[in-house]
Amino acid sequence: MTELRNAWTGASALLFDLDGVLTPTAVVHEQAWQELFEDYLIETGHSHGYQQSDYFDHIDGKPRFDGVRDFLASRGIKLPEGPTDDSPTNETVQGLGNRKNVIFNKIVDTRGVEPYPGSLKFINAALEQGLQVAVVSSSRNAPAVLIASGLAHHFEVVVDGQVAAAAGLPGKPDPATFAYAASLLGVPTEECIVVEDAVAGVQAGSRGHFHAVIGVDRGAGHQSLFDAGATQVVDDLNELL
Ligand SMILES: [Mg+2]
Repeated sequence: MTELRNAWTGASALLFDLDGVLTPTAVVHEQAWQELFEDYLIETGHSHGYQQSDYFDHIDGKPRFDGVRDFLASRGIKLPEGPTDDSPTNETVQGLGNRKNVIFNKIVDTRGVEPYPGSLKFINAALEQGLQVAVVSSSRNAPAVLIASGLAHHFEVVVDGQVAAAAGLPGKPDPATFAYAASLLGVPTEECIVVEDAVAGVQAGSRGHFHAVIGVDRGAGHQSLFDAGATQVVDDLNELL
C-alpha cells in the first residue's frame, strides 16, 4: 500500500464502481442481459441475434434503461418508453429493463455474491491508510449487492442508480455521479481516484478531473480501458498492494 500512496500522493479518497470492480456481479449482469435479449430477439423474430460483444459495445456500465435503449438502437428497434414501474412482461424500454432486473435478482438469490478477494484486501488497506471510500454504481441493485457480499458496512456513501435518479444526475459516461460522491465525502474531485472496469465508467472518470482513473480489466481489454482514459490498468486490485 506504500506504493499506492507514493504513486498517488495527494489522493485522499477512492470512488469504486461496484459490479466488476468489487464483486463479480458484472458477470451476473452480463448473463441477465444475455438471457433478456436472446429471448426477446427470438420472440420478436429478429434475425440478428444477441452476441457477447453487444454487452461491451452497448450496455456495460450504463444505467439500465440507457442499456436497453442503446442495445435496441443497435438493432434498429425503437420501443415506447413506458412508465418506470412498467410490468416486466411489457414490450417497452422500462418493461424490458425491469424484466432484466427480475432475471438479475433471480441469479443473485440462487448463487449469492462473494467480493473479489483482491478488492476486499485493497479496500481494507486503503482504509488503514486513512483514505475515504465510496461506491458509485449505475445499478439500482447496488445496496442489495453490497449487503449480500458483506461489504455494506465499509461504505457510508453509495451513489447508485436510485440516488442518481433522485438527484437528477446523468449516468456514466457522464462524470456527475462520481463528482456527487466526492462532494458527499467532502473531498475535492482532484483528490479522488476512480476505480472502474467498464469503458463508460472509465470515460466518466477521465472526463471529470479526478486524481487518477484505475481501469480493472475484467474483459473490456487493457487497450480499450486506456483508450477510454485510464491512467493505469490492472487485472486485479491486489496488483496495487
Ligand atoms: Mg462495472
